[in-house]
Amino acid sequence: ARAWSLKSRPAGLPGPEHFELVDIADAPLADGEVRVRNSWLSVDPYMRGRMNDVKSYVPPFNLNEPLGGGAVGVVEESRAEGFAPGDRVLHMLGWRDVATGPAKEFTKLPAGGAPDQLFLGLLGMPGMTAYFGLLSVAEAKAGETVFVSAAAGAVGSAVVQIAKLKGMTVVGSAGGADKCALVRDLGADAAIDYKAEGSLISKLNAAAPQGIDVYFDNVGGDHLDAALALARDNARFAMCGMIESYNSLEPLSLRYAMRIVGARLRLQGFIVMDFFHRMAEFHAEMGGWAAAGKLKSPETVRDGLEATPDAFRALFSGGNTGKMLVRL
Ligand code: NDP
Repeated sequence: ARAWSLKSRPAGLPGPEHFELVDIADAPLADGEVRVRNSWLSVDPYMRGRMNDVKSYVPPFNLNEPLGGGAVGVVEESRAEGFAPGDRVLHMLGWRDVATGPAKEFTKLPAGGAPDQLFLGLLGMPGMTAYFGLLSVAEAKAGETVFVSAAAGAVGSAVVQIAKLKGMTVVGSAGGADKCALVRDLGADAAIDYKAEGSLISKLNAAAPQGIDVYFDNVGGDHLDAALALARDNARFAMCGMIESYNSLEPLSLRYAMRIVGARLRLQGFIVMDFFHRMAEFHAEMGGWAAAGKLKSPETVRDGLEATPDAFRALFSGGNTGKMLVRL
């Protein structure tokens, strides 16, 4: 088997030199172990944080060891009860073609019509992040105006659709006309191209002249500042991520931070793991919408294990529309 490992820790945007494709031994299975041929690998922005040697909500990746991340695949060989060749499974031993480990590392995918890779996107971690971030963290309600950044991405595209299904008015921002067209196609009432000429604040003001009740932050920086400037009294911010700063060494600067005080804003950070105990709720509602054909699942696919570091790096320059995936 082959796996990508982290060769050195990047400062700024990771380059090809920080990754190495290495052979890993295919040892015979021990009792209780399963061997899986991965079919889809996920690359996610949070992996950038794990490349730094700092304490966080997930431990850093070790140097010169296989990287990990979400993946789905098919069981090839099993010495564990409950798993048989042909079973489709979800697990965290990604960045490699073949994953071997104890049965507890693997979760069987439900039978049904959903394509396997949806469990890495809309019906998986990013979808859960959108669902609970919007509805539980920000407590967004029908009739309210929601602003979401990176709205053409995995989490953002789910936020747009959930908010519309729940009767909210939605403004999404994304980089470029094509992505904005997609955001509108997903149901958003307005889409802002943050890369086009003009200030983000004036664009947001034009899209939501009454201000916003909820901001779902995927980006941070200027997006966060614009949301602060346009927030109505008692608005709630679901602080999901700040991708703008993941490769930056600059301090975050906000001109409108004092509005948190004056407008009595609530900014609440969250990690999707906080909601894993409510997965059944998520699967019932999102799974129901998906089965009823009410959800779109945009995705960008790169082919082959070799493409994994590039696919990951492209997240930071908007190279993906919808969920970024590697197909093996
Ligand atoms: P996306 O699919 O949204 O991919 C990242 C997107 O971010 C890019 O396509 C790009 O879109 C945008 N982007 C990248 N750099 C910048 C920049 N400098 N300024 C503005 N936009 C930028 O990724 P995910 O949906 O997986 O993740 C979205 C956010 O959610 C991230 O911040 C991530 O860390 C966070 N997250 C948090 C979780 C939690 O538990 N709190 C769980 C999962 C994700 P564009 O072309 O529009 O610029």
